[in-house]
Amino acid sequence: MFKKVVALIQPLADEKNLELSLSLDPNLPRDIFADDNRIRQILINLLSNAVKFTPAGKIVVEAILLDDYMKQPYWQIKVQDTGIGIPAESIDALFQRFSQVDHGVAREFGGTGLGLAICQELVTRMKGRITVESEVNIGTTFMVTLPLSEAQDEDDNSDLL
Ligand code: ATP
Ligand code: MG
Repeated sequence: MFKKVVALIQPLADEKNLELSLSLDPNLPRDIFADDNRIRQILINLLSNAVKFTPAGKIVVEAILLDDYMKQPYWQIKVQDTGIGIPAESIDALFQRFSQVDHGVAREFGGTGLGLAICQELVTRMKGRITVESEVNIGTTFMVTLPLSEAQDEDDNSDLL
């Protein structure tokens, strides 16, 4: 499923001459890569942001197994770009609905400012966390940390989106 989403975004990256790479931790259980609408939606949102807000350079998508935290195994999705970055004062409001950093690129590309709010909602439903590290004009990394147990849950998640 990671591969499918990357393939979906690849033409957009090609158009801007951005390198797009995917690295999947071989230690992750295979269930992680099964079709999960929530993970797919999160990936699409984060990757389309990375492409949208990166004028040059590369985007790296990673899925890694984390060391046990509170005796529970966690895994993490990382989407890293070399884009315009997000000023520190804008980070707090980032996951709120309709929040867009007021820079030319967001205006130029439009969008509604809902992508990250949706990501946040989905991650919360999976009992995970979404965090961001960013430096203006250097790049941005979004990290989604999820309990493995949720990924292996057979729970029907078709109620969303
Ligand atoms: P939508 O996702 O609804 O099409 P959007 O992309 O503007 O619109 P979000 O995905 O919620 O909205 O992102 C909110 C804002 O956060 C963006 O408008 C942009 O200012 C900033 N942002 C998000 N991702 C990045 C990134 N990778 N690099 C720089 N800025 C980002
Ligand atoms: Mg978006």
